[in-house]
Amino acid sequence: MMIIMKPNATPEQVEHVIEQVKAAGLNAHLSQGVEATIIGAIGETHNIPTDIFEVLDGVDIVKRITQPFKLASRQFHPENSVFPLDGFTVGGEEIAIIAGPCAVESRSQIIETAQAVKEAGASALRGGVFKPRTSPYSFQGLGEEGLEYLAEARQQTGLPIVAEIMSQIQLDLMVKHVDVLQVGARNMQNFNLLRAIGETQTPVLLKRGLSATIEELLMSAEYILAGGNKQVMLCERGIRTFETTTRNTTDINAIPVLKNLTHLPVILDPSHATGHADYVSAIARAAIAAGADGLIVEVHPDPAHAVSDGKQSLRPEKFAEMVKQVGQIAQIMGRRLASVQKEVQL
Ligand code: PEP
Ligand code: MN
Repeated sequence: MMIIMKPNATPEQVEHVIEQVKAAGLNAHLSQGVEATIIGAIGETHNIPTDIFEVLDGVDIVKRITQPFKLASRQFHPENSVFPLDGFTVGGEEIAIIAGPCAVESRSQIIETAQAVKEAGASALRGGVFKPRTSPYSFQGLGEEGLEYLAEARQQTGLPIVAEIMSQIQLDLMVKHVDVLQVGARNMQNFNLLRAIGETQTPVLLKRGLSATIEELLMSAEYILAGGNKQVMLCERGIRTFETTTRNTTDINAIPVLKNLTHLPVILDPSHATGHADYVSAIARAAIAAGADGLIVEVHPDPAHAVSDGKQSLRPEKFAEMVKQVGQIAQIMGRRLASVQKEVQL
């Protein structure tokens, strides 16, 4: 349930309510917005009457959160969640453009790509070092060596790093090296991993599972939020349908639906959603027009020789063109592309 405080409630009254929530055996989550201070009382609340909180000083009203996802719901947190990502913010006016190869393949490949995407207007660099491949015989990623190359690319460009984590075993290493932990589609319901990530304060990009509903995606986000990590971005990356001409089917609906149901930022991945470089820009434009807060796009300097996902990877020139178009759509939507305002160490 959510306990909405009166506008003039004192910090002591807020603190007292939090104590009472804990005394009732629930977890207290504070959401301090411009409009209202709300305390989320999360746990087994169905047997707890709302009046035990209604009578407390400073409390305005107590409402039950009707959605199964509590902390992720807009009922609990009416304003958009906006959080900083090394150099810019996500979820507000700025549109984040995360770009880079599917996988880090070599030092020169990632540094060349990082410089090209930065030049084209990207705000963050992606690159997988632990790759979830359908075949165990396919390239599995460079692991720790890849993280070192990513760190060097960040140092040269100032772009924050987004990379996929596949298992809790990788958590300490990844938290040390990356700015955003990507949870891939195949791990969206790896609840142990989600719980472990919830205990960190590293921002997360949570991708929708291949056949997951929007509600299941939000329930997975809830695992991370419940642990205390509030910096979760959701990512629509296409879902499996009967259609086979594209790798997946972009669920454009998911963007306005998610924006309605949750306060969390929504990112679209047009690369995995279409599986084909020819369609990436069109879907990227559509996503921003539909209200997405950002994009994650695969870019490779030589897609024909990429070790993974070359078919859906844009060449840097095509990516630059895409960024220009997306920037124009962003302007129409009253937004602007994020730019990294940081000193670059050369
Ligand atoms: C990726 O981003 O390279 C990836 C494996 O994506 P997904 O988890 O969406 O398939
Ligand atoms: Mn990929």
